[in-house]
Amino acid sequence: MADYDVVVIGAGNAALAASVSARESGAERVLVLEKAPEEMRGGNTYYSGGLFRIAFDTTEQLLRLLPRARELEGFVEGIEPYPAESFRADLLRMTNGHTDPELSQRLISDSYDTACWMAAHGIRFEPAISLGAVKLGGVIKWPKGAIVRAANEGVGLSRMWFLIAERSGINIRYNTAAIRLLQNSQGRVCGVMVRDSSGIHEIQAGAVVLGCGGFEANAAWRAQYLGRPWDHAKVRGTPHNQGDGLRMALEIGALPWGQWSGCHATPISAEAPPFGDRRLTDKTNRLSYPYGVMLNRLGLRFVDEGEDQALFTYAKFGGAILNQPGGVAYQIFDHKVAALLEPRYATSEPIVAQRLDELVRKLELDHEAALRTLNEFNRAAGCGSFNPSIPDGMATRGISPPKSNWAQKLDTPPFSAYQVTGGITFSFGGLKIDQRAQVLSTAWTPIPGLYACGEMVGGLFHNNYPGGSGLMSGAVFGRIAGANAARDRA
Ligand SMILES: Cc1cc2nc3c(=O)[nH]c(=O)nc-3n(C[C@H](O)[C@H](O)[C@H](O)COP(=O)(O)OP(=O)(O)OC[C@H]3O[C@@H](n4cnc5c(N)ncnc54)[C@H](O)[C@@H]3O)c2cc1C
Repeated sequence: MADYDVVVIGAGNAALAASVSARESGAERVLVLEKAPEEMRGGNTYYSGGLFRIAFDTTEQLLRLLPRARELEGFVEGIEPYPAESFRADLLRMTNGHTDPELSQRLISDSYDTACWMAAHGIRFEPAISLGAVKLGGVIKWPKGAIVRAANEGVGLSRMWFLIAERSGINIRYNTAAIRLLQNSQGRVCGVMVRDSSGIHEIQAGAVVLGCGGFEANAAWRAQYLGRPWDHAKVRGTPHNQGDGLRMALEIGALPWGQWSGCHATPISAEAPPFGDRRLTDKTNRLSYPYGVMLNRLGLRFVDEGEDQALFTYAKFGGAILNQPGGVAYQIFDHKVAALLEPRYATSEPIVAQRLDELVRKLELDHEAALRTLNEFNRAAGCGSFNPSIPDGMATRGISPPKSNWAQKLDTPPFSAYQVTGGITFSFGGLKIDQRAQVLSTAWTPIPGLYACGEMVGGLFHNNYPGGSGLMSGAVFGRIAGANAARDRA
């Protein structure tokens, strides 16, 4: 008899969802392997903002997840339904049509039900008030589909999942890294080789679920798959996601899937540490650039800062910044928008001046070119009325790149600048899974006994990503993987 019915590798949102799902689907002995020590547990999930992108049709549906939100002034009035078609349209637009049609369909159609399942197990949610929401005339205006986050963000989500797993009788081993998948003579995955403080051991399992993240923390793999300058990128989350699960699966013939040359990367403070800081978590993000401009060291703008709301551009603009000279840029704002900057800007000190020429002289860039760019921008600034809660169509005229929305003049002192770089969040390339979250082989047949979820799933995200989809995908496919692994145990 196997040592465990189901072994789950990893201890983030996806893996813990899988373990709880396996347990409730009849697996009595479920083991979670966490490579990190207990004080570093929880993967990227711990560092996350806890935002979940959920398709829903009515305000009542959303209030079931957020029972106390009625008490929040202006909350109910500001909710706009986010039907499945809107989620699908956003995912298709973000990925230039490349998202895996079957997997994305499942992600979208199961998103609300899975959030309810999490809530039923004890995950509490709260309004994602500080992530792009804007209060106008007493009403909170939300970025599309980005209303719900786990109570206390990623720290809270991780803590709640561990509590739920422990209460369900799931065994969790820390400091225990999976290093190889074991197969029987029929090719069925029947266990894992692990390394812990006492050495190397085999653990026999009825089925194995991989939920151990991407390769974002592995500099060599970043250089190999993403190319320069990604080997130098700061990592926004855990140092433990080194591509171990992907390597183990590829070694036994799993099918690589999705955009292996792509990743999620966001504008973060240039002062951020090389890996995620457990105190700051996602507070190094700098996502208010739609209300200002970004200049590189040559003193030039390089993206359309107002292309769309930040949660639809942030995941690609990290890469755009990292690819500028020195891998850095400045975000520049005037006083008119100071109150719109996300609260997390307070974790670094801006460079401030009363005049634009004075400001650029304080920055490490080509001063003349920067001033020329800012003056050109001001001459090209849009007319109409500025509205931070929607793409307002206030676009520049005659400059390249354009700024398509929120292109107000920078004319009201004091002016402020924040230096930013691009921080990698997670890699997009992963494994091909089927509708049961079972991993397919390069022969396009399911590998018996092997399931995957979370960042390890390839195909959903290409080039860009709608904010809040990573945790939702982890929960949806974690739940499916755990349930099928429990039913499938040998
Ligand atoms: C700063 C930041 C903010 C974010 N904000 C959001 C957000 O608000 N909304 C959203 O949807 N997404 C967000 N994301 C992305 C999101 O966190 C991830 O997509 C999601 O947490 C991935 O979950 P996962 O379970 O697949 O992986 P992880 O949570 O990274 O878990 C992987 C686990 O595997 C373990 N592991 C690795 N190798 C091994 C091994 N060999 N053996 C055993 N264990 C191993 C790790 O230690 C870890 O426990 C954010 C990410 C970061 C870094």
